[in-house]
Amino acid sequence: MLINTDLHLHSCFSMASSKDMVINNIAPQSKLKGLQLVGTGDGFHNGWLDMIEESTTYSGDGIYSHNDCDFIITAEVEGKNKIHHLFIIPNIEIAREISGELVSKNVDSDGRPRVKMNGNELLDLAHEYDCLIGPAHAFTPWTGMYKTFDSIYDCYGSKKDGKKVDFIELGLSANTDMADTVKELKSFTFLTNSDAHSPWPHRLGREFNQVEMEDISFSALKKAIEKKKFKANYGLVADMGKYHITACTKCYTFIDPLIAKENKMKCECGGKIKKGVDFRISEIADYDTPRHPDHRPPYIHLMPLAEIISLVVGKGVTTKTVQNKWNQLINNIGSEIDILIKSDIEDIAKIDLNISKAIESFRNKELHITPGGGGKYGVISFEKPLNTRKTTKTQKYKTLDNF
Ligand SMILES: [Zn+2]
Ligand SMILES: [Zn+2]
Repeated sequence: MLINTDLHLHSCFSMASSKDMVINNIAPQSKLKGLQLVGTGDGFHNGWLDMIEESTTYSGDGIYSHNDCDFIITAEVEGKNKIHHLFIIPNIEIAREISGELVSKNVDSDGRPRVKMNGNELLDLAHEYDCLIGPAHAFTPWTGMYKTFDSIYDCYGSKKDGKKVDFIELGLSANTDMADTVKELKSFTFLTNSDAHSPWPHRLGREFNQVEMEDISFSALKKAIEKKKFKANYGLVADMGKYHITACTKCYTFIDPLIAKENKMKCECGGKIKKGVDFRISEIADYDTPRHPDHRPPYIHLMPLAEIISLVVGKGVTTKTVQNKWNQLINNIGSEIDILIKSDIEDIAKIDLNISKAIESFRNKELHITPGGGGKYGVISFEKPLNTRKTTKTQKYKTLDNF
């Protein structure tokens, strides 16, 4: 069976996460997005595990169900060098045991615990408990593995020892074409997950994996990751990611990475410049163009439907107007993915002509994107934007005509 799964999100217990991130909200929203299996996130937080137990029924083999939505226990840990690692965990009992072993000052207060362990030690811990582990958003400049290391083996232990993570999470600012310019990644399964901090439809499931699984269970997911049974990675257009381009984290000006380096990553405004994922990957790349291994599934680019509606109606993504329109489309046509990718444009036009035109433009790759950087998401527009973000003379300013 083909399963759509988003394996990385954060609960109401994570810092900067919405208080609405509880099972009763996540389950129905996931269903509307077209997801069947959802990672709980924050699986080392005992309060969150209690809530999961209260709000779900256990279906066996690591699956906790709420109405029609199945959950699997996942967790993100911040290890040494502030690197984020994603765990997929066999069940709640094991999650509680590992949580008890983590030496962390904030394991009870934050859904994403900070520990002093390095990648190698976390990999050993994960495998000791039959968990799956890999770097979360591997290329991002604050907490991605490649911000510190030039090779995945420097983080998690040598190739000779046979030590290997189970997957790589690409993160919102990267895609398969970018990652497959790095030779050492060819044998890994790539995960595309939302890392959502709120249940709004432009966050939850904005990236997900389509996986061939024998059934919905931890064992079947593990097998699918090991045997590379991924049928598609669905992901945000990478330029939309908030660290795609090198930019200042204070004034968000785009800055040529080489100039940024010369200026010791300091912006004229006094802010800190963060290296974009596109540039970081170009530094570690072995090839100019991607070389996809045979097992690599297609990468299908998405853009949140709520953002397309927001563009058409000229109101913010979380406004009632946008949410009502989103609900109307979902209730009448089908899941968000269907609407974006394959539903009949004429059916969408019957509900809203302008939105149907915008979706057609998205499908034809005619929407323009001002890329994200420095912590600010990319912005879509119908017309090629004039400089909507401040730039200086020396900077590269990139606007995509196509993606
Ligand atoms: Zn993270
Ligand atoms: Zn600045």
